[in-house]
Amino acid sequence: MARKKKKNAINNKSILSIIVIIALIIFGYLYKDEIGDFVSDILENNNIDLSGKLAVHYIDVGQGDSILIQSPENEFILIDTGEKDQYEKLNSYLEHYNITKFKYVIFTHPHSDHIGSADKIVKNYDIENIIMPEVYHNTKTYEKLLTEIENKNLEINAAIPGKTFKFGGAEFIILAPNSDSYKSLNNYSVVIKLTYGNTNFLFTGDMEKESENEVITYCKNNNIDLSIDILKVAHHGSSTSSQTNFIKLLNPKYAVIMCGIDNSYNHPNLKVVDRIESNGAEILRTDLDRDIIIISDGNVVSIAQKGRGTIIDYSTEKSSGDLEDYEYETEKNEDFIEEK
Ligand SMILES: [Zn+2]
Repeated sequence: MARKKKKNAINNKSILSIIVIIALIIFGYLYKDEIGDFVSDILENNNIDLSGKLAVHYIDVGQGDSILIQSPENEFILIDTGEKDQYEKLNSYLEHYNITKFKYVIFTHPHSDHIGSADKIVKNYDIENIIMPEVYHNTKTYEKLLTEIENKNLEINAAIPGKTFKFGGAEFIILAPNSDSYKSLNNYSVVIKLTYGNTNFLFTGDMEKESENEVITYCKNNNIDLSIDILKVAHHGSSTSSQTNFIKLLNPKYAVIMCGIDNSYNHPNLKVVDRIESNGAEILRTDLDRDIIIISDGNVVSIAQKGRGTIIDYSTEKSSGDLEDYEYETEKNEDFIEEK
């Protein structure tokens, strides 16, 4: 009797395993196809060829950031990875483009919605350069990342304002962090401005007002033009960031907010959305538009959105606020809470 029971238990176990394996295969297939369909439909139907162009992918990783940048020469930058549970999605996305190697990986700051999958990325991909802020964070996630970096014998390139990096025909400059002691970890965020031809992108991590003001001062002192075309809105659209005058100065045409549907932080803050829109920028959101790809040939920018399934084209023209007349804002955050 006991033997028969054991046999049945084994049978049940193996049937369950087979069902789980089949479910995983089907899920993996559908998941991969979803990304494949999006890319082929939207890019091929609109005659957009990624070759010879710069493509910036704002990957929908729920409440968190993960941005993939592809140079015209087919090199890659990864900025952040989203939470730990987003690795499957991120990995499938990267596999879809046959990416095995990154020229640069930037981990903006040690919060889990930015570096949650960072240890696995370091472990499973070839990385030429890692750029991170000089700050320690006492969490398992951060410790795991440091261990993988050590295992791979990689050196961390400290994020220091003014450092510039070649990325094929494009280049980027680090604009923040400007200080080595902040109360909020968000202000350690690595901020970069990426330039390709006449098109400019700003990536801000979770920088808050304090860092925004320092970036203004840094750019003033070093004669750096802060006008951009595409802004990755800081801190998921939180009211801790995106001061009116800062947005005016950047004067973006498009602003991408990366946040999760119904997130518990109520990101994006509606006042921030209003500030950006009243400055004339159109907002794109990963919670509504899902994966967003912005492609630049150096002059014309095309935008493909998974959610709305549309393509927008626009030509760049330089226009920005005047750094000399910049007025720093001193107002306090109305709804400040310690956020990730
Ligand atoms: Zn964040």
